[in-house]
Amino acid sequence: MSKQDKEKKQISAEAYYVTQQHGTEPAFSGNLNDNKEPGEYVCVCCGSKLFDHTAKYDSGSGWPSFYKPFEKNSVAYSDDYEIGYLRKEVHCSKCSAHLGHVFDDGPQPTGLRYCINSVALDFIPEEKE
Ligand code: FE
Repeated sequence: MSKQDKEKKQISAEAYYVTQQHGTEPAFSGNLNDNKEPGEYVCVCCGSKLFDHTAKYDSGSGWPSFYKPFEKNSVAYSDDYEIGYLRKEVHCSKCSAHLGHVFDDGPQPTGLRYCINSVALDFIPEEKE
């Protein structure tokens, strides 16, 4: 898909709900939760590279989980008190799409768990030689 096509691409109703309305997909519903293929995870809205497979791990939560973003500034954060206590919301630093939340119960080396909705991401498999 060319960059231009990407920009014109319409996002699904589920992706709109999650990325624009701070929604959450049901646990274990997303197509990327179990994905173990090598490749990049990009923003479904703007195509910005957010995570890659090297930091993905199985948290058992039912959502794709990463211990770090692709680069420190690939994502940005805000405080979310929506369900009565503070959670750190994670969004795309380029287009502000809501992605999920980050918790401090992840594995080393960071101890962080980026708990990300599948529908907020597009997966781009690594090219095979
Ligand atoms: Fe984005």
